[in-house]
Amino acid sequence: MARGAGDDEAVGVLLARRLRALRAQRGWSLERAARATGVSKAMLGQIERGESSPTVATLWRIAGGFELGLSDLLLDAPPPPATVVRASRLRPAVDAMLVAPLFAYDPALGFELFEVTLLPGYTRRSEPHAAGVVEHVVVVSGAMELCLDDDWTALACGDAVRFAADRAHGYRNLGAADARFLNLVHYPTR
Ligand code: MN
Repeated sequence: MARGAGDDEAVGVLLARRLRALRAQRGWSLERAARATGVSKAMLGQIERGESSPTVATLWRIAGGFELGLSDLLLDAPPPPATVVRASRLRPAVDAMLVAPLFAYDPALGFELFEVTLLPGYTRRSEPHAAGVVEHVVVVSGAMELCLDDDWTALACGDAVRFAADRAHGYRNLGAADARFLNLVHYPTR
């Protein structure tokens, strides 16, 4: 049931086909496509050969370069498979803000979902995302504060917030216990 390498491969094959077709439609060389998208010729070539799984940021640039929505890049993406993520999953301890990806970004669905743990005393500031990106924060344990522009808002367990994330934002936990929240980041598809 878990989303596995096979699914990523299917997306990679689809993207390779789409990119080749789009370029052919417009009669664009790799160099012309690189100029339009800001993605290097080498990277575009790798994607077209199915040798690279591009990041969301790269997908955005490619879609923008062809003046398409993200979803149009992967028009015939297969429906997502049923996926179970167990609570016992390992959390990457990268820093004091422990981020566990629950569901990775899927262009057909337009969002990614994380569970974030803020240890006591931790503050994280985030750079603005691209225009149109919308974040959702749902506090599932402890209490925390959310910063939008320069204003901090206290959030209790169970509180939920939705905000346009194309501006400076941040999260902090001034309490003595861990705070945990679900963070759903939505990327517009056109
Ligand atoms: Mn953010």
